[in-house]
Amino acid sequence: MKVIVNNLNEEYALREIINAYFPKSKIEYVLKKSDSEDYIEVSYSLCNDKHVFVCEASLNNKKCKSQNEVSEYNKNALKKAVSDTLKSATGIHLPWGLLTGIRPSKIIRELKESVKECDPVSYLTKVYEADESKAILAAEVENNESQYIKTRYKDGISLYIGIPFCPSRCLYCSFTSQSLAFSNKLTEPYVEALKKEMHEISKTPYIKSRKIETVYFGGGTPSALSSTQIDDILNTLFRFFDLSVAKEITFEAGRPDTISKEKLDVLQKYGITRICINPQTLNDSTLKLIGRRHSADDFISSYNLARQCGFTHINCDIIAGLPGETESEFANTLSTLKNLNPESITVHTMSIKHGSYLDMNYDMYSLAAASTVNNMLDMAYDTLKSMEKIPYYMYRQKNMLGNLENIGYCTPGHECLYNIYIMEEVQSIIALGGGGSTKLVKDDMIERVFNVKEVSEYINRIDEMISRKKQLFEAFEF
Ligand code: SF4
Repeated sequence: MKVIVNNLNEEYALREIINAYFPKSKIEYVLKKSDSEDYIEVSYSLCNDKHVFVCEASLNNKKCKSQNEVSEYNKNALKKAVSDTLKSATGIHLPWGLLTGIRPSKIIRELKESVKECDPVSYLTKVYEADESKAILAAEVENNESQYIKTRYKDGISLYIGIPFCPSRCLYCSFTSQSLAFSNKLTEPYVEALKKEMHEISKTPYIKSRKIETVYFGGGTPSALSSTQIDDILNTLFRFFDLSVAKEITFEAGRPDTISKEKLDVLQKYGITRICINPQTLNDSTLKLIGRRHSADDFISSYNLARQCGFTHINCDIIAGLPGETESEFANTLSTLKNLNPESITVHTMSIKHGSYLDMNYDMYSLAAASTVNNMLDMAYDTLKSMEKIPYYMYRQKNMLGNLENIGYCTPGHECLYNIYIMEEVQSIIALGGGGSTKLVKDDMIERVFNVKEVSEYINRIDEMISRKKQLFEAFEF
């Protein structure tokens, strides 16, 4: 998309709102418009104490223009001028309005903390022009998660342990996960490096003086490792960290084709409280299209095996808006899950992640319109309500279809605390393993340190990863 601006002060806000309408569009700033090409022109001026934002767009030979005048300069005024113009030019309605941030429920929590008598729904609808249904959803999530935020350990931390291997790469994935077909020989040195990081970090005063409240094994697909390797890592975890007051340990066994009785027995031996088995869809043709090497029946077999092995909390992730899927296919996925009735279901919206195969070959795939994806999310909400599940955490990502949302639902009492804490940024998360992003939280301050993403780099530079984290811990204490 060609964009002409007379002021780049709010470049980030501008890019966010344009991308909300055009998730794949790369913005190119140009000096002049050309009538032969689509363009968006945005200008800002200050006239008689009024801040004036004007947006004009020419898209598919249709010209539209909007103007927004405000007494106080703010980036929402810019977003509104652009959004009004793009709405007229494209006919696209964004249910979240001008809200492009990642954490809508955090906005409500912070509002409630700063203003005693407030109406979060009217705040989101008025300030951000969100649909009332989305504002109510965000308020519902905030209400459900708030009790867990209040009762978290004040000196608590969470551990994230990353296993960046997967059996194959999904079409939409931009993670740093390595396909086992190419990197099997790296798993053993990776496990050794990870164990070293776990041991060294467990000895630090920062960790020793805090309570570990939750542990989350993510990736990648942690269950892509062998049962011996999983046993080795869990043994290291329990040996070096004090988990006596931990409230939950989640293990992502995301891909059904990586699950075996042997591995599930290892997880049971260590008392893993929650596992994720993620079908994403239960339509075989879509599973094949997105590069998963399992069928819907394989998912059901793995799910039943986990139940037989004694797991009482299973989470299943699904995605609304997968390439080629219609509302009826999405309804089929929901109805199969309804019969299985896992304790948690996380409903994601398809996002076009930068660097994914889908991103690079976008034109080869057919993706649903934003309004269709929103219907799928409404359908999920109604189905999950009928299963007596509640929405308890939410977040949004860049380049999601329709600028929509991801929602975690669960049977009350089965909320994943880690998900709430990380999304609301209310607890420090110590991330171990390749690509791990450690976030230390103290009052309103957040400090981050990152492990390198690439597996062989992580292995070769493990001492540096450990010392970076130790330095941050020391600096953060003072
Ligand atoms: S299972 Fe997850 S991490 Fe692995 S390739 Fe698929 S999307 Fe990426």
